[in-house]
Amino acid sequence: MDTDALYQEVILDHYKHPRCKGCLSTPSDSFVLYNPLCGDQVELSLTAQDDRVSEIAFNGHGCSISQASASIMSNLCRNHSFAEVREIVESFRAMMRGEVEPAALQDKLGDAVALEGVRKFSARVRCAMLAWEALEKCLGSAARRSVKDRSAKS
Ligand code: ZN
Repeated sequence: MDTDALYQEVILDHYKHPRCKGCLSTPSDSFVLYNPLCGDQVELSLTAQDDRVSEIAFNGHGCSISQASASIMSNLCRNHSFAEVREIVESFRAMMRGEVEPAALQDKLGDAVALEGVRKFSARVRCAMLAWEALEKCLGSAARRSVKDRSAKS
């Protein structure tokens, strides 16, 4: 099987059997993003605990790339510290911009390297980025709150 076919398989698998899809009972942050060009919607929720993302879930609809990307991202980023998650998001963005070869990011990005092929279709890059951008929004407000908590305590 060539790489393209393998990547297609990974994307299709996440699309058909999404990981982390649904609702969290008590999310600390959530954010919805739309991609009007394609009709995609991703609503991301996370539970932040002590500067860690302890749980992530998403809801949404749209093309296979947007939904598979949300599934891959959620599965990859849960149970990591804010700093680690930021690093993962930055690596993904760099890969989608063609700045880093996917092979070099395999360990860090896992299934997400499968989305690199989307670069060939520039209009779809936004589909792939949607969930990751929603994650950054959630992370931003979680991090701001945690700084505030710390200064309130000291
Ligand atoms: Zn799309």
